[in-house]
Amino acid sequence: MLILMAREASAAQVQAVLETLAAAGVKAHLQENPEAPSILAPHASQAPKADRLEALEGVARVVPITSPFKLASADVTAARTVVPVGKARIGGEDLTLVGGPCGVESRDQLFTVARYVAEAGVPLLRAGAFKPRTSPYAFQGLGQEALDLLAQARAEFGLGIVTEATEVETFDAVEAVADLIQIGARNMQNFALLRRAGRSAKPVLLKRGPSATLEEWLFAAEYVMSEGNRQVVLCERGIRTFADHARNTFDVSVIPAAKAITHLPILADPSHAAGRRDLVAPLARAAVAAGADGLLVETHCQPHKALSDGPQALLPSDFLRMVEDVRRIHALLAEARPTYVWF
Ligand code: PEP
Ligand code: MN
Repeated sequence: MLILMAREASAAQVQAVLETLAAAGVKAHLQENPEAPSILAPHASQAPKADRLEALEGVARVVPITSPFKLASADVTAARTVVPVGKARIGGEDLTLVGGPCGVESRDQLFTVARYVAEAGVPLLRAGAFKPRTSPYAFQGLGQEALDLLAQARAEFGLGIVTEATEVETFDAVEAVADLIQIGARNMQNFALLRRAGRSAKPVLLKRGPSATLEEWLFAAEYVMSEGNRQVVLCERGIRTFADHARNTFDVSVIPAAKAITHLPILADPSHAAGRRDLVAPLARAAVAAGADGLLVETHCQPHKALSDGPQALLPSDFLRMVEDVRRIHALLAEARPTYVWF
């Protein structure tokens, strides 16, 4: 349920509602909206009845939340979530671009890529230190050594760091360095990992599982949010279908479909969707045209030598062209966006 407080409700009245819910054993989240505060109780079966809560001073109205996911639902807040990461504000006015190699391989490789990413005005650098690989024999990432290099790259180039946490055991180490903690597609329903991410003060990038429906994906976000971390960014990275011309099938429709039902921002990762570099830029352009808040794109200074995901890594020149193109599309859409008048 959503408890809407009156505009003039005092802090003591808000506190009294929170205490009433706590006494009934109901976990509640206070939302400081610009108009008036509201209190969200996602799991409200034990909560006092709406008429009892409405009788408390300062309460304007109690609204049931009919959506199956509660904290991520667009029904619970009029505002869209904006997640600040480094110099970027994901979900804000600007298109947020994240670029970098699949994995950190060496100081030289990471710094070479970070340099052209930063020079392109891209605010966030991606690169895995722990790599979730299909084969246990494939490159698994440099671990702590990679995290140290990422911290150095942030200091050197002023880039925010996006890197993946693959296990609860190594979460603390990733959390210490990352500005945005990625939960990978394979881990979208690793509930222990989601709960741990939910207790972090760092924002979380939640990739869609390769066979997850939109609802399942939002329930995964709900796991993070219900632990207290409301800074969640979704990321569509392609799903498993019968089509075999690409590594995955990029689901462009999920971008507007997600935006219709959740206030969380959404990025697109055309690299893991495509699996081949010639498809990455067209998918990137499509994602931006469909309303993505930004892109996560793999690029490598020497893709033929990459230890993971080389075939989908954009060459530096292709990366720069893609960045220019998607910025133009984003600017065009912002310009063309009409101001709606509702009657
Ligand atoms: C990655 O970002 O390098 C990655 C492994 O992505 P995904 O979880 O989408 O496969
Ligand atoms: Mn990759």
